[in-house]
Amino acid sequence: MEYEVIDAHCHLDFSKFNKDRHETIERARNSGVVAMINSGIDYRTNADSLELSRKYDFIHATLGLSPQMVPDANDEKIKQILSQMERNIERAVGIGEAGLDFYYCTKDAGRERQKEVFRQVIEIADRYNKTLVIHGRDGEEMAHEMSRDLDRVIFHCYGGSLETMQSILDAGHYISVPTLVCFSQHHKRIAQKLPLENMLIETDSPFLSPRKGRNEPAFVLDSVPVIASLKEMEEKEIAMATMKNTRRAFHL
Ligand SMILES: [Zn+2]
Repeated sequence: MEYEVIDAHCHLDFSKFNKDRHETIERARNSGVVAMINSGIDYRTNADSLELSRKYDFIHATLGLSPQMVPDANDEKIKQILSQMERNIERAVGIGEAGLDFYYCTKDAGRERQKEVFRQVIEIADRYNKTLVIHGRDGEEMAHEMSRDLDRVIFHCYGGSLETMQSILDAGHYISVPTLVCFSQHHKRIAQKLPLENMLIETDSPFLSPRKGRNEPAFVLDSVPVIASLKEMEEKEIAMATMKNTRRAFHL
């Protein structure tokens, strides 16, 4: 491999990898993926992400509270996760994924509750000066408004409008392009318009595979030639810039 990359967002702890987790990680490393950011979404996956980061020094953990689990979680459960974040803040390279998901949640009360919980997560990222990883499906604009004043923010798997993207860029924040860019026209447009200095790349493994079946960190390399041709740049340039951006964004 003539260049190296970082997968800025994956879930290697998920059960889809139970049979071949180590092999999957090895495959990524042998393909040129030098580091992976593993994001938790709730109490258990946060603990598992931390565990992975202890086992592999090139896997870094972020501690999250996914908006998708907010409607079912009582206050006690939310509080447990928030205090888990604080307890393990030293070991984490960021907070998230967290944010808003208005795609799954169409009711006002549920959306308000997501905002209330997200506000508390932002508070922690701010207090400990940690990078915030946002999941903002169909709520990108609101999620951006709420997090605008933070220093380091990454919109993971960004699929919002180009207008909101511009506002995110104006705030100096990052956009992470998923392997969806290999087949989604909207994500191709996003990648094309997105300045290289604000771009990260990710798989969101095991989801959103650019091939058949399960996604895995090695496949982040599939998006490099696609993005390179969209931007009329060298593959190596894309790889180097996104790697540098990820290191800067997470203070790796
Ligand atoms: Zn994710």
